[in-house]
Amino acid sequence: MKTAAIISIGNELLSGRTLDTNTKFLTENLLELSVPTVAVYTVPDDIEKITRACRLAADDADIIIATGGLGPTPDDLTRNAFAAMLNSPLKLQQDLLDKIELYFKSRKINMSPNNKNQACIPKGSTPLPNNLGTAPGILAKKTGKIFAALPGVPSEMKDMFQNSLRPILKQLPKEKIILIKKLNCFGAGESKIANTLGPLLDRDRNPLINITIHFGRITLTINAAADDQNTAQNLLDADIKQIRDKLSTIIFSEDDTTLPQTIGKLLTEKNKTLATAESCTAGLLAKLITDVPGSTAYYTQGWITYSNKSKTQMLNVTEEIIEKHGAVSPQVAAAMAQNAKKLAAADYALAITGIAGPKGSTPDKPIGLVYIALASEDKIKTEKFIFSHDRSFIRERSAQTALNILRLKLISNS
Ligand code: ATP
Ligand code: MG
Repeated sequence: MKTAAIISIGNELLSGRTLDTNTKFLTENLLELSVPTVAVYTVPDDIEKITRACRLAADDADIIIATGGLGPTPDDLTRNAFAAMLNSPLKLQQDLLDKIELYFKSRKINMSPNNKNQACIPKGSTPLPNNLGTAPGILAKKTGKIFAALPGVPSEMKDMFQNSLRPILKQLPKEKIILIKKLNCFGAGESKIANTLGPLLDRDRNPLINITIHFGRITLTINAAADDQNTAQNLLDADIKQIRDKLSTIIFSEDDTTLPQTIGKLLTEKNKTLATAESCTAGLLAKLITDVPGSTAYYTQGWITYSNKSKTQMLNVTEEIIEKHGAVSPQVAAAMAQNAKKLAAADYALAITGIAGPKGSTPDKPIGLVYIALASEDKIKTEKFIFSHDRSFIRERSAQTALNILRLKLISNS
């Protein structure tokens, strides 16, 4: 199987000023071409270090893609590093210079002399056209390996990859086909899922299954490799079936479909409406719901009732209930949900009240204590959670968990 290594170039990537999003884009797109990435190097704007990374990357992989350092300034050294690594001097190409000059002329900007550097590529290599900027990319072959240098600017890098490099990589003979499916889960911890899946998670099996976690959402990525498309598809389908049998309703979606999108689909199918009443999440739940285009079809309204007074004034939660049980209590969560449903005349209402911290805890009400209530038909269901980590995590997790409670209700009705 052909493999890739990526070299991300730039001081800003090592100082934390810039997040390396180019690698994310490239690794995902290469995998779609059945080319897994086996190594990623991040190096500063330093010719020795770039050259060394190119050599190391060529030990690891068949396709080496560098991004960054193709600009015109003295800290842009990828051209020189490629020349050193290929053992081939930089040569000015008149056709590239003409294009760069035209780029500036058509924008009525004076070209600075150092932009001329961008028309130089190592002798024997091929330029990759840049449709969005001045710097052409470089494509070179050495001892059976493919080397490509793409710009650092993410939009230019993506355009050059899609329009110039992808067609070339697509034509390479495929030794293996890789197919990928993501299954997204909510409502069980990572270790419980791992225990349930057991040997399916073995590292030496095909398909290989990886687990990642993000605010309570657990994603299983299934990678099936085979000599031909059919075998890979059969391997993938067999694993998807086994995992679905084992995890059942814990799985809420496939690939990039989010929990709010899943809720939206279910509510739309059932022609039902939803309202929200939020205390500690203060609109986060409403935001997640309305991030989905078309949410107007099912989301009616939401209340942010942060203070006790607002809970009473806006949602008719009685002062007595708040006084007796406290604002963070199952009774208040239930009253918020019940009254929100009634006031909005919605089919469902979700309510959240909790202690996001870092202050506000009491001995019997710790940070992370959250009550979530769902009012539906003539019933109210309230659940208690104690989430860990920090304020933003607790708030995000609370909103996502509320959505999951609604999802489980909606699928149990079907
Ligand atoms: P330029 O002509 O702008 O100098 P370049 O090809 O030399 O282009 P860089 O100078 O390395 O590229 O980076 C240009 C911009 O792209 C910078 O703002 C940088 O932060 C951003 N960038 C570079 N590499 C990455 C990366 N791996 N992920 C995300 N952004 C990046
Ligand atoms: Mg630069």
